[in-house]
Amino acid sequence: MGLPIRSCIACRKRENQIDLLRVVRSGGRVLPDPTKQMNGRGAWLHPHCVEMAINRRAFERALKSEEILDISEVLKFVEGSSN
Ligand SMILES: [Zn+2]
Repeated sequence: MGLPIRSCIACRKRENQIDLLRVVRSGGRVLPDPTKQMNGRGAWLHPHCVEMAINRRAFERALKSEEILDISEVLKFVEGSSN
């Protein structure tokens, strides 16, 4: 038993799901999913790993996109919740 474990798509560290932010792909955009219940292909990462994920194109890899995804909503969410 225990909490569900997921790997951060940026740093690859395994982490309890509750400590990671879930994001989902919606077309060409990536949206934050704080409820962890949105439909669609999801990925998990530490909120502080967003920049690393961008640099490594981890969103595109994890969400199976051949095009660069728009992650502005995720950035807004992370910046807003860190204050
Ligand atoms: Zn991480």
